[in-house]
Amino acid sequence: MLALVVHEPGSFEVTEVNDPTPEPGEVLIEVAACGICGTDLHIIDGDYHGSYPIIPGHELSATVLDEGDSAHLAPGDRVAINPNIYCHACRMCRRGMPHLCECATAVGVTRAGGFAELCAVPATQCLPLPEEVSFTDAALMEPLSCCLHGLEVLGPRPGDRTAILGAGTVGLMMTQLVRLQSGAPIVVSEPDATKRQMAEWLGADATVDPSSEDAAGAIEDALGGAPDFVLEAAGVPATAALALEIVGPGGRVLQFGVCPEGTEVAMHPRKLFRDEITIAGAYTNPFTDDRALTMLAAGRIVTDPLVSDEFPLADAEAAIARAREADSFKVQVRV
Ligand SMILES: [Zn+2]
Ligand SMILES: [Zn+2]
Repeated sequence: MLALVVHEPGSFEVTEVNDPTPEPGEVLIEVAACGICGTDLHIIDGDYHGSYPIIPGHELSATVLDEGDSAHLAPGDRVAINPNIYCHACRMCRRGMPHLCECATAVGVTRAGGFAELCAVPATQCLPLPEEVSFTDAALMEPLSCCLHGLEVLGPRPGDRTAILGAGTVGLMMTQLVRLQSGAPIVVSEPDATKRQMAEWLGADATVDPSSEDAAGAIEDALGGAPDFVLEAAGVPATAALALEIVGPGGRVLQFGVCPEGTEVAMHPRKLFRDEITIAGAYTNPFTDDRALTMLAAGRIVTDPLVSDEFPLADAEAAIARAREADSFKVQVRV
Protein backbone atom coordinates (compact mmCIF):
# COMPACT_ATOMS: atom_id res chain seq x y z
CA MET A 1 0.00 0.00 0.00
CA LEU A 2 0.96 3.65 -0.32
CA ALA A 3 1.92 5.47 2.89
CA LEU A 4 3.75 8.51 4.20
CA VAL A 5 6.69 7.11 6.18
CA VAL A 6 8.86 9.16 8.55
CA HIS A 7 12.10 7.15 8.63
CA GLU A 8 13.69 9.38 11.26
CA PRO A 9 13.26 13.01 12.31
CA GLY A 10 13.53 15.20 9.24
CA SER A 11 13.42 12.33 6.71
CA PHE A 12 10.06 11.33 5.21
CA GLU A 13 8.59 10.18 1.89
CA VAL A 14 5.46 8.75 0.30
CA THR A 15 6.36 5.17 -0.57
CA GLU A 16 5.07 1.61 -0.96
CA VAL A 17 5.04 -0.44 2.25
CA ASN A 18 3.56 -3.80 3.28
CA ASP A 19 -0.15 -3.87 4.09
CA PRO A 20 -0.79 -3.99 7.85
CA THR A 21 -1.83 -7.29 9.46
CA PRO A 22 -4.37 -6.81 12.28
CA GLU A 23 -3.57 -8.46 15.62
CA PRO A 24 -6.32 -10.10 17.71
CA GLY A 25 -8.77 -7.43 18.82
CA GLU A 26 -7.87 -5.19 15.89
CA VAL A 27 -9.73 -4.26 12.74
CA LEU A 28 -8.45 -3.44 9.27
CA ILE A 29 -9.68 -0.08 8.01
CA GLU A 30 -9.44 1.76 4.70
CA VAL A 31 -8.54 5.37 5.47
CA ALA A 32 -10.82 8.05 4.01
CA ALA A 33 -9.41 11.31 5.41
CA CYS A 34 -6.60 12.18 7.79
CA GLY A 35 -5.89 15.65 9.13
CA ILE A 36 -2.40 17.06 9.64
CA CYS A 37 -1.94 18.30 13.19
CA GLY A 38 0.87 20.31 14.79
CA THR A 39 1.75 17.06 16.54
CA ASP A 40 2.47 15.41 13.18
CA LEU A 41 4.87 18.24 12.36
CA HIS A 42 6.52 17.79 15.78
CA ILE A 43 6.88 14.04 15.02
CA ILE A 44 8.38 14.77 11.61
CA ASP A 45 10.78 17.24 13.22
CA GLY A 46 11.71 14.85 16.07
CA ASP A 47 10.24 17.14 18.72
CA TYR A 48 7.62 14.71 20.14
CA HIS A 49 7.60 11.28 21.77
CA GLY A 50 7.09 9.35 18.52
CA SER A 51 8.61 5.98 17.55
CA TYR A 52 10.56 5.75 14.28
CA PRO A 53 10.08 4.69 11.57
CA ILE A 54 6.44 5.76 11.80
CA ILE A 55 3.46 6.35 9.54
CA PRO A 56 2.00 9.44 11.29
CA GLY A 57 -1.61 10.61 11.22
CA HIS A 58 -3.94 10.42 14.22
CA GLU A 59 -6.97 12.44 13.04
CA LEU A 60 -8.60 9.92 10.75
CA SER A 61 -11.86 8.64 9.41
CA ALA A 62 -12.17 5.34 7.61
CA THR A 63 -14.27 2.43 6.38
CA VAL A 64 -14.01 -0.95 8.09
CA LEU A 65 -12.72 -3.64 5.71
CA ASP A 66 -12.29 -6.54 8.16
CA GLU A 67 -13.89 -6.30 11.60
CA GLY A 68 -11.85 -9.20 13.04
CA ASP A 69 -13.45 -10.49 16.24
CA SER A 70 -15.23 -7.20 16.97
CA ALA A 71 -18.87 -7.46 18.00
CA HIS A 72 -19.77 -3.80 17.40
CA LEU A 73 -18.38 -3.34 13.86
CA ALA A 74 -19.13 -4.78 10.42
CA PRO A 75 -17.44 -4.47 7.03
CA GLY A 76 -18.47 -1.23 5.33
CA ASP A 77 -19.03 0.65 8.59
CA ARG A 78 -17.87 4.25 8.45
CA VAL A 79 -15.85 5.13 11.54
CA ALA A 80 -13.89 7.88 13.25
CA ILE A 81 -10.77 6.78 15.10
CA ASN A 82 -9.84 7.77 18.63
CA PRO A 83 -6.07 7.39 18.38
CA ASN A 84 -5.27 7.26 22.10
CA ILE A 85 -4.94 3.74 23.49
CA TYR A 86 -4.69 3.08 27.24
CA CYS A 87 -3.56 0.01 29.19
CA HIS A 88 -6.35 0.13 31.83
CA ALA A 89 -3.91 -1.44 34.31
CA CYS A 90 -1.40 1.21 35.38
CA ARG A 91 -1.75 3.56 38.34
CA MET A 92 -3.05 6.52 36.31
CA CYS A 93 -5.58 4.36 34.45
CA ARG A 94 -6.78 2.99 37.80
CA ARG A 95 -7.08 6.52 39.17
CA GLY A 96 -9.51 7.44 36.40
CA MET A 97 -7.00 9.39 34.30
CA PRO A 98 -6.32 6.97 31.45
CA HIS A 99 -5.11 9.77 29.18
CA LEU A 100 -2.08 9.98 31.49
CA CYS A 101 -1.57 6.21 31.12
CA GLU A 102 2.02 5.26 31.90
CA CYS A 103 2.16 2.94 28.89
CA ALA A 104 -0.17 4.73 26.50
CA THR A 105 0.22 4.10 22.80
CA ALA A 106 -1.33 6.12 20.00
CA VAL A 107 -2.28 5.56 16.40
CA GLY A 108 0.05 7.70 14.30
CA VAL A 109 2.43 8.43 17.19
CA THR A 110 3.78 5.13 18.52
CA ARG A 111 2.08 2.84 15.96
CA ALA A 112 1.20 3.18 12.27
CA GLY A 113 -1.37 5.90 11.59
CA GLY A 114 -3.62 7.36 8.97
CA PHE A 115 -1.38 8.75 6.23
CA ALA A 116 -1.76 5.41 4.46
CA GLU A 117 -4.27 3.52 2.38
CA LEU A 118 -4.85 0.95 5.12
CA CYS A 119 -4.43 0.91 8.87
CA ALA A 120 -4.90 -1.67 11.63
CA VAL A 121 -6.39 -0.29 14.84
CA PRO A 122 -7.91 -1.81 17.99
CA ALA A 123 -11.66 -2.23 17.54
CA THR A 124 -12.13 -0.25 20.78
CA GLN A 125 -10.80 2.87 19.02
CA CYS A 126 -13.45 2.86 16.27
CA LEU A 127 -16.56 5.05 16.64
CA PRO A 128 -19.29 4.25 14.11
CA LEU A 129 -20.34 7.44 12.31
CA PRO A 130 -23.87 8.78 12.28
CA GLU A 131 -25.04 9.10 8.67
CA GLU A 132 -24.94 12.89 8.75
CA VAL A 133 -21.23 13.08 9.66
CA SER A 134 -18.99 13.23 6.60
CA PHE A 135 -15.52 11.67 6.48
CA THR A 136 -14.10 15.20 6.41
CA ASP A 137 -15.92 16.15 9.62
CA ALA A 138 -15.16 12.78 11.23
CA ALA A 139 -11.45 13.49 10.80
CA LEU A 140 -12.03 16.59 12.98
CA MET A 141 -13.49 14.49 15.81
CA GLU A 142 -10.11 14.02 17.52
CA PRO A 143 -9.08 17.69 17.77
CA LEU A 144 -12.64 18.64 18.77
CA SER A 145 -12.65 15.99 21.50
CA CYS A 146 -9.35 17.38 22.82
CA CYS A 147 -10.92 20.87 22.93
CA LEU A 148 -13.89 19.50 24.90
CA HIS A 149 -11.52 17.93 27.44
CA GLY A 150 -9.57 21.19 27.69
CA LEU A 151 -12.67 23.19 28.57
CA GLU A 152 -13.64 20.52 31.08
CA VAL A 153 -10.28 20.82 32.83
CA LEU A 154 -10.61 24.60 32.95
CA GLY A 155 -13.12 26.74 31.14
CA PRO A 156 -14.80 30.13 31.38
CA ARG A 157 -17.87 30.57 33.52
CA PRO A 158 -20.87 32.27 31.92
CA GLY A 159 -19.97 35.90 31.44
CA ASP A 160 -16.23 35.55 32.06
CA ARG A 161 -14.22 37.90 29.85
CA THR A 162 -12.33 35.44 27.65
CA ALA A 163 -9.14 35.81 25.62
CA ILE A 164 -8.19 33.08 23.15
CA LEU A 165 -4.59 33.35 21.95
CA GLY A 166 -4.20 31.80 18.50
CA ALA A 167 -6.80 31.19 15.78
CA GLY A 168 -5.60 28.01 14.13
CA THR A 169 -8.00 25.09 13.86
CA VAL A 170 -7.99 24.57 17.63
CA GLY A 171 -8.38 28.28 18.43
CA LEU A 172 -11.36 28.46 16.08
CA MET A 173 -12.95 25.33 17.54
CA MET A 174 -12.43 26.76 21.02
CA THR A 175 -13.97 30.07 19.96
CA GLN A 176 -17.09 28.22 18.84
CA LEU A 177 -17.22 26.01 21.95
CA VAL A 178 -16.83 28.95 24.33
CA ARG A 179 -19.53 30.80 22.43
CA LEU A 180 -21.84 27.77 22.75
CA GLN A 181 -21.01 26.83 26.34
CA SER A 182 -20.65 30.03 28.28
CA GLY A 183 -21.88 33.02 26.35
CA ALA A 184 -18.68 34.75 27.42
CA PRO A 185 -17.43 37.84 25.60
CA ILE A 186 -14.47 36.61 23.51
CA VAL A 187 -11.45 38.38 22.08
CA VAL A 188 -9.11 36.38 19.85
CA SER A 189 -5.47 37.36 19.39
CA GLU A 190 -3.94 36.17 16.12
CA PRO A 191 -1.27 37.63 13.80
CA ASP A 192 -2.78 36.30 10.53
CA ALA A 193 -5.49 38.60 9.07
CA THR A 194 -7.50 35.79 7.42
CA LYS A 195 -7.59 33.84 10.67
CA ARG A 196 -8.71 36.93 12.59
CA GLN A 197 -11.53 37.41 10.10
CA MET A 198 -12.52 33.76 10.51
CA ALA A 199 -12.48 34.09 14.32
CA GLU A 200 -14.87 37.03 14.12
CA TRP A 201 -17.11 35.12 11.76
CA LEU A 202 -17.14 32.08 14.09
CA GLY A 203 -18.03 33.94 17.27
CA ALA A 204 -15.28 36.25 18.52
CA ASP A 205 -16.61 39.66 19.61
CA ALA A 206 -13.30 41.24 18.65
CA THR A 207 -9.83 40.31 17.44
CA VAL A 208 -6.41 41.83 17.96
CA ASP A 209 -3.18 41.55 16.00
CA PRO A 210 -0.41 40.80 18.52
CA SER A 211 2.29 41.58 15.95
CA SER A 212 1.21 45.15 15.25
CA GLU A 213 -0.04 46.42 18.59
CA ASP A 214 0.47 46.14 22.31
CA ALA A 215 -1.36 42.82 22.60
CA ALA A 216 -2.01 43.00 26.34
CA GLY A 217 -3.43 46.52 26.09
CA ALA A 218 -5.47 45.74 22.98
CA ILE A 219 -7.00 42.66 24.60
CA GLU A 220 -7.96 44.66 27.72
CA ASP A 221 -9.43 47.44 25.58
CA ALA A 222 -11.47 44.95 23.55
CA LEU A 223 -12.83 43.20 26.66
CA GLY A 224 -13.29 46.28 28.81
CA GLY A 225 -10.77 44.95 31.33
CA ALA A 226 -8.34 42.12 31.99
CA PRO A 227 -9.57 38.68 30.89
CA ASP A 228 -11.04 36.32 33.49
CA PHE A 229 -10.15 33.33 31.35
CA VAL A 230 -7.18 33.04 28.98
CA LEU A 231 -6.77 30.12 26.63
CA GLU A 232 -3.36 29.64 25.03
CA ALA A 233 -3.99 27.88 21.72
CA ALA A 234 -0.86 28.80 19.78
CA GLY A 235 1.87 26.70 21.41
CA VAL A 236 4.25 29.65 21.14
CA PRO A 237 6.54 30.61 24.08
CA ALA A 238 5.76 34.35 23.76
CA THR A 239 2.03 33.57 23.78
CA ALA A 240 2.33 31.28 26.79
CA ALA A 241 4.06 34.14 28.62
CA LEU A 242 1.40 36.62 27.47
CA ALA A 243 -1.36 34.40 28.87
CA LEU A 244 0.14 34.59 32.38
CA GLU A 245 0.75 38.31 32.02
CA ILE A 246 -2.73 39.40 30.96
CA VAL A 247 -4.96 37.24 33.18
CA GLY A 248 -6.94 39.35 35.65
CA PRO A 249 -7.63 38.88 39.38
CA GLY A 250 -9.39 35.60 40.16
CA GLY A 251 -8.58 34.51 36.63
CA ARG A 252 -7.77 31.18 35.03
CA VAL A 253 -5.25 30.24 32.37
CA LEU A 254 -5.51 27.10 30.26
CA GLN A 255 -2.27 26.13 28.50
CA PHE A 256 -3.61 24.17 25.52
CA GLY A 257 -1.09 24.75 22.70
CA VAL A 258 1.90 22.40 22.37
CA CYS A 259 4.97 24.55 23.09
CA PRO A 260 8.41 23.27 22.04
CA GLU A 261 9.99 20.88 24.55
CA GLY A 262 12.05 22.78 27.10
CA THR A 263 10.08 26.04 26.81
CA GLU A 264 10.22 28.11 29.99
CA VAL A 265 8.25 31.28 30.70
CA ALA A 266 8.31 33.65 33.66
CA MET A 267 5.78 32.98 36.40
CA HIS A 268 5.06 35.52 39.12
CA PRO A 269 4.31 33.74 42.42
CA ARG A 270 3.25 36.97 44.08
CA LYS A 271 0.65 37.65 41.40
CA LEU A 272 -0.53 34.03 41.58
CA PHE A 273 -0.98 34.43 45.33
CA ARG A 274 -2.42 37.93 45.47
CA ASP A 275 -4.70 37.58 42.44
CA GLU A 276 -5.60 33.94 43.13
CA ILE A 277 -4.73 32.76 39.63
CA THR A 278 -5.44 29.21 38.49
CA ILE A 279 -3.23 27.67 35.79
CA ALA A 280 -3.98 24.32 34.16
CA GLY A 281 -2.90 22.18 31.25
CA ALA A 282 -5.03 19.69 29.33
CA TYR A 283 -3.82 16.64 27.45
CA THR A 284 -5.70 14.68 24.79
CA ASN A 285 -9.31 13.51 24.97
CA PRO A 286 -10.41 11.19 27.79
CA PHE A 287 -14.09 10.24 27.42
CA THR A 288 -14.91 13.10 25.05
CA ASP A 289 -14.80 11.36 21.65
CA ASP A 290 -18.47 10.40 21.61
CA ARG A 291 -19.57 13.89 22.64
CA ALA A 292 -17.41 15.47 19.93
CA LEU A 293 -19.06 13.21 17.38
CA THR A 294 -22.49 14.09 18.74
CA MET A 295 -21.75 17.81 18.33
CA LEU A 296 -20.56 17.24 14.75
CA ALA A 297 -23.69 15.22 13.96
CA ALA A 298 -25.86 17.98 15.42
CA GLY A 299 -24.14 20.54 13.22
CA ARG A 300 -23.21 22.69 16.22
CA ILE A 301 -19.64 23.26 15.07
CA VAL A 302 -19.01 25.05 11.78
CA THR A 303 -16.40 22.87 10.08
CA ASP A 304 -16.32 23.85 6.40
CA PRO A 305 -13.95 26.79 6.77
CA LEU A 306 -11.72 24.88 9.19
CA VAL A 307 -10.45 22.57 6.45
CA SER A 308 -8.45 24.85 4.16
CA ASP A 309 -6.80 22.28 1.90
CA GLU A 310 -7.18 18.68 0.75
CA PHE A 311 -4.38 16.69 -0.88
CA PRO A 312 -4.34 13.13 -2.25
CA LEU A 313 -2.14 10.71 -0.30
CA ALA A 314 0.40 10.64 -3.15
CA ASP A 315 0.96 14.38 -2.53
CA ALA A 316 1.26 14.05 1.26
CA GLU A 317 4.70 15.70 1.19
CA ALA A 318 3.15 18.81 -0.38
CA ALA A 319 0.35 18.61 2.19
CA ILE A 320 2.92 18.69 5.01
CA ALA A 321 4.57 21.74 3.45
CA ARG A 322 1.19 23.47 3.15
CA ALA A 323 0.36 22.68 6.80
CA ARG A 324 3.50 24.58 7.82
CA GLU A 325 2.32 27.77 6.09
CA ALA A 326 0.94 30.39 8.45
CA ASP A 327 -2.27 30.99 6.48
CA SER A 328 -3.39 27.34 6.32
CA PHE A 329 -6.02 25.94 8.66
CA LYS A 330 -6.55 22.19 8.85
CA VAL A 331 -4.93 20.42 5.92
CA GLN A 332 -6.37 16.97 5.23
CA VAL A 333 -4.96 14.09 3.24
CA ARG A 334 -7.66 12.23 1.29
CA VAL A 335 -7.08 8.60 0.54
ZN1 LIG B 1 -3.77 16.22 16.72
ZN1 LIG C 1 -2.47 2.77 31.82
